[in-house]
Amino acid sequence: MKSQEIRKSFLEFFKAKSHSIVPSAPMVLKDDPSLMFTNAGMVQFKEFFLGNSVPKNTRVTDSQKCLRVSGKHNDLEEVGHDTYHHTMFEMLGNWSFGDYFKEEAINWSWELLTEVFKIDKESLYVSVFEGSEEDGVGLDTEALELWKKIVPEQRIIYGNKKDNFWEMGDQGPCGPCSEIHVDIRSAEEKAKKSGRELVNADHPQVVEIWNLVFMQFNRKADGSLEELPAKHIDTGMGFERLCMVMQDKQSNYDTDVFTPLIAEIEKITNSTYDKSEETNIAIRVIADHVRAVAFSIADGQLPSNNGAGYVIRRILRRAIRYGFTFLDTKEPFIYKLVERLKTQMGDAFPELVKQQQLIENVIKEEELSFLRTLEQGLVMLENIVNESKDKEISGVKAFELYDTFGFPIDLTALILKEKGYSLNIAEFEAELKKQKERSRAATQVTSGDWKEITDVDENAFVGYDQLETQVKIAKYRKV
Ligand code: ATP
Ligand code: MG
Ligand code: MG
Ligand code: MG
Repeated sequence: MKSQEIRKSFLEFFKAKSHSIVPSAPMVLKDDPSLMFTNAGMVQFKEFFLGNSVPKNTRVTDSQKCLRVSGKHNDLEEVGHDTYHHTMFEMLGNWSFGDYFKEEAINWSWELLTEVFKIDKESLYVSVFEGSEEDGVGLDTEALELWKKIVPEQRIIYGNKKDNFWEMGDQGPCGPCSEIHVDIRSAEEKAKKSGRELVNADHPQVVEIWNLVFMQFNRKADGSLEELPAKHIDTGMGFERLCMVMQDKQSNYDTDVFTPLIAEIEKITNSTYDKSEETNIAIRVIADHVRAVAFSIADGQLPSNNGAGYVIRRILRRAIRYGFTFLDTKEPFIYKLVERLKTQMGDAFPELVKQQQLIENVIKEEELSFLRTLEQGLVMLENIVNESKDKEISGVKAFELYDTFGFPIDLTALILKEKGYSLNIAEFEAELKKQKERSRAATQVTSGDWKEITDVDENAFVGYDQLETQVKIAKYRKV
């Protein structure tokens, strides 16, 4: 099955169970002070769970664009190094707002995976929440009994709070969950194994694909839990991981979600995927990051020097540097991948088609601007490392790289890590704070209850209306 059909089958399955198919919410959040990016499918439905707002339909399904690069869910370090964590990914989900609960959610997930998608039952594991004393919540016996009816006990895992209690952030709706994991080893490989070598949930090739969250609490600001007014279902399945399982691959990057992008990177950069691990990581990072950046720009979030814009800039600069160092790309090239991305995903996400020109222009400008200082910065970093007697590099030096060459701190840390060095982040933070205080003291102007702030780059690229507005808005913060 092609990825397009997989997405469609999921939505159609739940449509047939009286769910209405709704569009993805934007990936970039403009009005939520607790969250910069949508990091799970449930985010757009938060108010329904809390009972603050009443849904039109009590059952919905969708594919949500998610980004996990900041806050409670940050997978950036994993991306490219493993083959199943992305920055931007699609989360397929089905929801019940005070409608059905555990029984339907569990039985339907099993029906979809084993009867529609025909995934071998023997390769599936499920988990249940073992309970948490500090929160006063016990073992999820309700879910356990339901699973026992369909899954042999040796394939049921008991999970702790970290894995089996889902929370969007430090506050908000939350609850125990059951996850579904798949053993992705090939049939031939499995045929050779028996006993614990065969049935082993901890095997590295057993990958989590779906999380069924039983939303029944709200985590309050003081950390305590209160029961929600009604019980809800919130599920999230990683689309790219599902495609990996369905297409019998070992890596998300070997599915048709990524192979066209990777082929394009190989062509443009004259490189080969599957040659060396270093090249492979670079290619995977670029294929991943271009999606995150393109979808953010399509949502109206351009790279900038603060807030969500800086997150996007950091992701893009990271990709640029992976290309520069490992694929020898000295000219902008990432913007050229947008065309391929659009061909592939434009049907499901028309914003890519509509905003293609803007996305390409913005990425190209960013590439040009960072490439101007990247080489010099890398030379400087090399010198810093060579001169250092210590395995920990000074944060003052890292600040110079940030300030003069536009190296985001996480990029400097990453390059140092590759060279076997660490970084004194606290020192960097102190330098950054000093700089902010200096410029604030120099230019603070107060008018009414609006105070001009100065942590905005006045030289930020302002060629597009949206960015201009964004910089203007960012420049004034209410006091
Ligand atoms: P993992 O343990 O693999 O990091 P998770 O438990 O953090 O996943 P959930 O918050 O339960 O993930 O999200 C629901 C589903 O979304 C997961 O079961 C997985 O299939 C998918 N998913 C989560 N994070 C990512 C990611 N960074 N890239 C791709 N898919 C992801
Ligand atoms: Mg995770
Ligand atoms: Mg997990
Ligand atoms: Mg999970």
